[in-house]
Amino acid sequence: MNSILNVEKDTDKVISKFSSLLEHCDSCLTDLISEIETLQFDLSQSNAPNDVLPTTNSFSMLNHVIKKVQDVSSQLAKEHRDFHSTVSRVGKAIDKNFNSDYGAMENRLLWSDDESKTILNRVIIEHFMRKGMLDIVDSLVTDAGLEMLEEEKKPFTELNQILISLRKRDLKPALDWVEINREKLIQQNSSLEFKLHRLQFIEYLCKGVEKQSELIAFARTKLQPLVDRHAKEIQALMGSLLYLKTGLENSPYAYLLDILNWSEICDVFIRDSCCLMGMSVDSPLNIAFEAGTVAFPALLNIRQMMSQRRVASVWTAKDELPIVIDLDKKFQFHSIFACPILRQQASDVNPPMRLDCGHVISRDALTKMSNGSTKVKCPYCPVEQNPQIAKQIFF
Ligand SMILES: [Zn+2]
Repeated sequence: MNSILNVEKDTDKVISKFSSLLEHCDSCLTDLISEIETLQFDLSQSNAPNDVLPTTNSFSMLNHVIKKVQDVSSQLAKEHRDFHSTVSRVGKAIDKNFNSDYGAMENRLLWSDDESKTILNRVIIEHFMRKGMLDIVDSLVTDAGLEMLEEEKKPFTELNQILISLRKRDLKPALDWVEINREKLIQQNSSLEFKLHRLQFIEYLCKGVEKQSELIAFARTKLQPLVDRHAKEIQALMGSLLYLKTGLENSPYAYLLDILNWSEICDVFIRDSCCLMGMSVDSPLNIAFEAGTVAFPALLNIRQMMSQRRVASVWTAKDELPIVIDLDKKFQFHSIFACPILRQQASDVNPPMRLDCGHVISRDALTKMSNGSTKVKCPYCPVEQNPQIAKQIFF
């Protein structure tokens, strides 16, 4: 982040210098043009039409203007050169603040086998499917030699079309989708259906008194069935009817007209439909990329330090990083266990083990403590027990 701010400072300098240069250049040229125009006019006035040689007076005027043009152009050229040095300072700031040598971080082995390549391609394809960029998906499937059934694409295509309609304030496709998936949506406690109907209600509300009977009929058929879960909100909608004549804009219900309701509905739809399909809201590729950008500088640093001190072998475990990197909460998807004895995070090779007494330590700690014996003392309670009884815990 600091690197970006450092470069930004120099870039800001370039931008402000450029605008002042532009301004100055413009005013200089305008002055020059008006001076030449005046000269042109003066010359045409002072010389009689048949005079071939200009008068001494015209000569001095001409010389004066020529000198001025030369002065101004050399001054502008100098300013332009100065500006160049400011621009090149940005390049130097980028070189200074960012590391361009990522070679050390590359792990070619990771993508060397066909299975990994296929998985990576599938993750990329899924990302584009979520974005609704189906033409890219098709090209990628062909290029990567993968097979993709229409069935796999269908839910993404459908959801994207609904989203496009929602952004155009067309609720119908979303409502149709809700109709088909109502049961599952209720199970996951979704308020999508209510929110869609509420927007529809507000749309009618905006049309004023002549839509009153439609509004009431709509409330009876669509809102009433939802009253169990959304009583308070439906009461508010009914209350807004009082202002149908005078307009909602100046009423306590003006918040119903907020256009943010429309962007909110898109978010709710994405969240609930992804949940229904058992998918995360963000694509795994996006999450991996974001987490990578946070972790990358720290990893790059440690990698460089390791190669300088010739301890590259420390970072050998495939699934483990040599340092703990604090990612934001949104990147944490499951619980982790750190062994209280070895002070290490549990992994596939060193999983957490639940002792007979209920305390949990890592398998390596248990092996070290028992040291082949059939009796081990729990470091916490300390009940003596058979280490064989300990059970592995899966998160
Ligand atoms: Zn214990």
